[in-house]
Amino acid sequence: MSDMLENIADSVKSSVAGLPDANAWMDLLRAKVETAAMNGSDMGALEKLIEESVKELARPILRYGAQLVADQQEMRCPDCESELLVEEHERERSVNTVFGEIEIKRSYGRCKRCNKRLYPADHTLGLQVRSPASPRVQEISSLAVLRTPAGRAPEDVRRMTGLDIGPSTLHREARRQGERALRLRQADVALTDTLKGVNKLSERSQAPDSPFTLVIEIDAWHIRERDCWGETEKLREKGEAPSRWHWVYTGTVFRLDQRGKTAAGRPVITERGYVATRQGVEALEKQLYAEALQRGLLQATSVLVLADGAIWIWNLAENRFKQATHRVDLWHATQHLWAIANDLFGNDTAEARQWAHDRISWLKRRKEGAIDVINSLHEIRASLDTLTDKQCENLDGQIGYFDRHKDRMDYKNAKALDQPLGSGAMESTCAQYQCRFKRTGQFWSLDGDEAFLALQTLHWNERWHLLFPHDIKKE
Ligand SMILES: [Zn+2]
Repeated sequence: MSDMLENIADSVKSSVAGLPDANAWMDLLRAKVETAAMNGSDMGALEKLIEESVKELARPILRYGAQLVADQQEMRCPDCESELLVEEHERERSVNTVFGEIEIKRSYGRCKRCNKRLYPADHTLGLQVRSPASPRVQEISSLAVLRTPAGRAPEDVRRMTGLDIGPSTLHREARRQGERALRLRQADVALTDTLKGVNKLSERSQAPDSPFTLVIEIDAWHIRERDCWGETEKLREKGEAPSRWHWVYTGTVFRLDQRGKTAAGRPVITERGYVATRQGVEALEKQLYAEALQRGLLQATSVLVLADGAIWIWNLAENRFKQATHRVDLWHATQHLWAIANDLFGNDTAEARQWAHDRISWLKRRKEGAIDVINSLHEIRASLDTLTDKQCENLDGQIGYFDRHKDRMDYKNAKALDQPLGSGAMESTCAQYQCRFKRTGQFWSLDGDEAFLALQTLHWNERWHLLFPHDIKKE
């Protein structure tokens, strides 16, 4: 039996043009399947056996196809299209593919204009410098690292694809793709510097002809940085925080007409843009602008910016989205009213509840609810002579808050227009990022985080095909 299998296996290999003999392959596979069936194999074992065998067949065919691409490659620079000075013919490289390792030969040349040396065939095939991963392996590594805590990703990949990729290789590949995502993001941001670029970004939006409102929500949250690796216990004994925290600045952009409800009544947004960066407010501002342009900023009949009361957010909004309606999240405003009520009338007393409920209702139902709230706070400040210094100070702070944001509290009007009163979409965005980036054991360096943030964001923004052109969406 095994002699026969070996003979067939030999004839699969020894076929014309390096392509396998399909009949011999079929004979070999059938013999293996029959043996397994005779031994009472379960279907999972059969699936794996056939999967492995299919890879044996597919690998030489892939090598053949990739070599055809390389052989037909014109020796031109992919950036400037000028002819390359060929410096070496048929240099061999190996590539890790989903079917196993293959070798291909391609030529190497120098572009005089760009002053760089390259393999144009690698560029066409989607292979990167100093990386053995094929585009599918790059893609699988990226998805695995984005979805699974780093330590477990290799096992998941092995089980789902049969590929044996070590943890550091997997992480390095995903990181490399993250850096590509960063470069794409930077290119979009650079477009915002010129009118031509702004128009180019705007042309990408699939905005409808009918009037629509664009909603922009902004927030920030914390992420841990790996600068105390392995020192956690020692630091904890000393009563110090085990790691440093950094802000992640986040935004989301969507059209109001893309907001709907599930059958169960849960609000959903069918399509939206995400932005996330650790590079500061200015970086967020530019990225958010680029994203908003791609989501219909210039075509929108009205634009709404929604966020909490953070000063940096409203400076950003004034800077970049001046014509927009600015609205402080209603829930945030009510939190401020609850804080005042509890401070003045005792924690959760009937009086405190009544006082807060009344004012929340003013905010929601009165045309100038915020002004009425401010006036009532001034009245309390002037009339309540039992206030302590601390209470006065708190009250002044709260008067300042409402005064600063009074023009951003048009909740009655918002309700009439069926616009959102709160930044629920932003909270779910932050929750999604946090779920991914705050997971136990996820400590990354600043650079690494930014690359992974960019990769995750590109994925959620439905631009995966920009990194992996083979990812054609089925309509
Ligand atoms: Zn060139």
